[in-house]
Amino acid sequence: MTITIEQRSAQRLIVAQPPVAIEQPSTDHKEVNAMIVVMRSNADESQINAVLERLKEHSLRGHLSQGEERTIIGVVGAAIPPILREELEVFPGVQQTVPITRPYKLTAREFRPEDTIVMVGDVAVGAGSCVIMAGPCTVESEEQIITTARSVREAGATMLRGGAFKPRSSPYTFRGMGEEGLRLLALARAETGLPIVTEVMTPTDVDLVARYADVLQVGARNMQNYQLLEEVGRTGKPVLLKRGLSATIEEWLLSAEYVVAQGNPNVILCERGIRTFETATRNTMDLNAVALAKRRSHLPVIADPSHGTGKWYLVPPLALASLAAGADGLIIEVHPDPDRAKSDGAQSLTPENFAALMSRLAALAAALGR
Ligand code: PEP
Ligand code: MN
Repeated sequence: MTITIEQRSAQRLIVAQPPVAIEQPSTDHKEVNAMIVVMRSNADESQINAVLERLKEHSLRGHLSQGEERTIIGVVGAAIPPILREELEVFPGVQQTVPITRPYKLTAREFRPEDTIVMVGDVAVGAGSCVIMAGPCTVESEEQIITTARSVREAGATMLRGGAFKPRSSPYTFRGMGEEGLRLLALARAETGLPIVTEVMTPTDVDLVARYADVLQVGARNMQNYQLLEEVGRTGKPVLLKRGLSATIEEWLLSAEYVVAQGNPNVILCERGIRTFETATRNTMDLNAVALAKRRSHLPVIADPSHGTGKWYLVPPLALASLAAGADGLIIEVHPDPDRAKSDGAQSLTPENFAALMSRLAALAAALGR
């Protein structure tokens, strides 16, 4: 196969700027329930408002996405009247309308060409950020969480992770300290200034966990707990949505759609390894998913090489690889004494190894221009 000059230059463009390409699949047999209206680069405010007004007349709401080069208006509705596209295409200032045929809409890159940046306090996640969330799998004691928080902050981490409500494969293992664990996390935040990422497992715990957490983590096992997704969506708080153990990328993005559809755009996707035939590692880190999710969606994507590999000595290489694949950050398990950790000790880094990894990540980030 020969590659034409155009294709080659298009490929260069894609390497430099993956987000903007709008793939336009055929819509012949599909009902349109989402579309974007692409405005001309010189469209003025009154022309944009005229489009928004017409949408209102059809009881539809336009989501404005104002990029540097062009404005895009996203529309989602159970039934977009077929005539609407034709109507809008003759509006002054409208360049074209493009139906979004992917099953997820609000989370689709087509819907919002620019990267979404999720703010956690003053930490920005997305658009090529290198946010590092670090801490133990589980909060075990005041001393353990404070020591870990101090050491990861010292090494340059920007957020503290730690579970208080733990989903464990066996009911006979330690399942977390519950609210006391949340209280200790808040103490560690007060001590270090690091925002807290912690898991919430059931819809009924969302209010409680949201009172303490800066980021609500939805774990892999709960990725398709749709009531939980809607409940965390209603809080408006940043949500870290881990990919399910056997979830496809499409299912993962549809789960994110549940949160965003509640009016909460603050979703951070997290690839944490998937189940494959391989048993030599705990999971298989799917770095395709990191790169593809960044392309298919505007949401930030981070990677979890701890759960992705299950082995502490594989965490550094996969952390580096994830960043190189385009992850906007990492979540890494660190324990002051991994051999005595109540959960996931085998995949937890010592504070020393974490600090060593952080300097390698900094060198890589610089090489990547980030
Ligand atoms: C965790 O972060 O400790 C955890 C349980 O992750 P996952 O849901 O990805 O297994
Ligand atoms: Mn863990």
